[in-house]
Amino acid sequence: MKQEEIKILKQEIRQLIKKLTSEIAQMEESAAPVAPENSIGRISRMDAINNKSVVEASLRNRRKKLAKLQVALSKVDNPGFGQCKNCKQSINPKRLMLMPESDRCIKCA
Ligand SMILES: [Zn+2]
Repeated sequence: MKQEEIKILKQEIRQLIKKLTSEIAQMEESAAPVAPENSIGRISRMDAINNKSVVEASLRNRRKKLAKLQVALSKVDNPGFGQCKNCKQSINPKRLMLMPESDRCIKCA
């Protein structure tokens, strides 16, 4: 990977980390414990519980993605990062951001 590409990749990863971190913070607020039944009524309580599990599922996904991005960011400076072990071509940066552990390009994987 060229220095310039590494720089851009780092910037993109940092931006995504920032975005995910603030999304996670917002979602954590909306996934707060559901109020007791008598305060909001049975049906809205069920709605609240349903919403909560939806929020929790996407919260989990975002946390996983965030962890991968942090790994990617810590590996970007390693020599040979972003180079396919098989064909020595550059691995697609989008692939690296989602799967920083990949050491092969899409064709060779
Ligand atoms: Zn390859």
